[in-house]
Amino acid sequence: QMHGAATIIVLGASGDLAGKKTYPALFNLYRTGFLPKDTHIIGYARSNLSRDDYVKRITAHLKIQSDSDKQYLKEFLNMTDYTEGQYDQDESWKKLCKDVSAWEEKRGLQKGQKNRLFYMALPPSVFLTVATGLRKNVYGTEGHNRIVVEKPFGKDLESSTQLAKDLGQLFTEEEIYRIDHYLGKEMVKNIMTLRFANMFLGPMWSAESIDNVQITLKEPFGTEGRGGYFDEFNIIRDVMQNHLLQVFSLVAMEKPAGTDPESIRDSKVKLLRHVKPITLNDSLLGQYIASNGKPGYKDDDTVPKDSICPTFATLVLWVENERWKKVPFILKAGKALDNQKVEIRIQFKETPKGSLYEGAVRNELVLRVQPGEAIYFKFNNKNPGLSNKSITTDLDLTYADRYKDMRVPDAYECLILDVLRGDHSHFVRDDELDAAWRIFTPLLHTIDRDRVQPKPYPYGSRGPKELDKFVEGYGVVRRADVPYQWPVQSVA
Ligand code: NAP
Ligand code: NAP
Repeated sequence: QMHGAATIIVLGASGDLAGKKTYPALFNLYRTGFLPKDTHIIGYARSNLSRDDYVKRITAHLKIQSDSDKQYLKEFLNMTDYTEGQYDQDESWKKLCKDVSAWEEKRGLQKGQKNRLFYMALPPSVFLTVATGLRKNVYGTEGHNRIVVEKPFGKDLESSTQLAKDLGQLFTEEEIYRIDHYLGKEMVKNIMTLRFANMFLGPMWSAESIDNVQITLKEPFGTEGRGGYFDEFNIIRDVMQNHLLQVFSLVAMEKPAGTDPESIRDSKVKLLRHVKPITLNDSLLGQYIASNGKPGYKDDDTVPKDSICPTFATLVLWVENERWKKVPFILKAGKALDNQKVEIRIQFKETPKGSLYEGAVRNELVLRVQPGEAIYFKFNNKNPGLSNKSITTDLDLTYADRYKDMRVPDAYECLILDVLRGDHSHFVRDDELDAAWRIFTPLLHTIDRDRVQPKPYPYGSRGPKELDKFVEGYGVVRRADVPYQWPVQSVA
């Protein structure tokens, strides 16, 4: 499905997100034929950038290898230029609007084709000022307007509601695209297909068969000098209330009435309204300390010396509906851990007591979101050969092996294309945000008010030493007695 012409205006074009994500995504869309030639991209920020500076910034993260890539890059650069301006002055915005209109004229766009896409790659502090200036001075009247916004969407229910209200006075919900880039990730987009296109999974997907679900995001690095920003937000606001909760929604929601954006988002909201606010009892908080030459969180100069900011958390969600009765959803996220991964791990129930294979290892279905998409299902099999012993092995779908010639696009590529197409499926709706904050806000307020002390864990470890006991308390079982090897060893 192709889309019409558009002018894409990148606000904060001099920044980190723009250089690392927005421009590379736009370039890849162009290179793969998803950006029509009559697209124009205008970068906007306060920095005084020469043409060369601008080109350097926006190409710093591009991978240009072949001659054809070089050709594409030349064409891509012809599609873009930079306008310098302030964020709080009508004069600046008027100039931007003039630049946009000039391009629209030059390309001979007719009424109805003069579409404008505003991409906010800006810190939250200037966000409303910019949205106000845009609405007043740059909003198009001869085509549609769409505005893409990035997290953070507030710090708690109250601030998020306020922000939604303020933004809602400027742009309609139809025009707003709230990015949660996890929704653009290949494996996350696959959850619906996996669940609803496979009949055999349907009956297994409930408390009847499932014991617990773990959704994990691990980062091997700390805040490394960017702790000032992080300290205000903590790991819960930074990645759990948004990214992990979105993944959870897709795993746990009921089948939507259709595959259209509103049906999908209706289904998620309905689920979130059935989730109890997280209690302090159902959480384990941690903060990393120095280890093996690596600094602790509080060694970061931008972090207050008495910070109680959790850099690690394990939080348990309970869904109050029949499908998920008594099934804990264990969200776990942390910085400065032993490795890097994002995965969904569904642990099935044990074989019943007194049954033929009592004590068999539990089945597990793992969806690895990154690094390297994979789905594997751990199950028991007779050890091949003369033995009758059972061993744990797996059915494995590793994308890199199975889909050899496939390029998995970056999340931002998918999401920007969705915006151009006007598809809201992978964006967060206002009522969804509201429901999400209701689940997390009481806990966040308790942590801040009571100054709940996080448990220390060494940089590079799996988390606080309390972790394994904590998850066992929710039924997670890890069997060290039964060998499971990856890659599978040949059997004697
Ligand atoms: P950034 O680099 O700090 O800021 C982007 C641009 O905004 C800067 O180049 C600067 O441009 C302007 N700016 C910075 N601080 C400002 C201030 N205090 N007042 C006015 N203007 C200021 O931010 P970013 O990392 O790109 O992030 C942009 C947004 O995306 C944020 O909401 C962030 O939370 C979100 N986000 C970022 C990432 C990422 O990987 N960086 C990932 C996910 C979400 P001029 O000085 O030239 O005007
Ligand atoms: P695993 O690494 O054994 O982890 C399973 C669970 O046990 C995780 O929740 C993990 O916690 C926890 N855990 C890990 N070490 C622990 C310890 N020392 N004490 C207590 N709990 C611990 O995962 P697996 O699924 O059984 O896979 C084993 C290895 O094979 C992994 O490296 C996996 O990537 C690999 N594998 C790869 C593929 C593939 O690429 N297609 C397929 C199958 C298996 P954390 O969340 O804290 O890590």
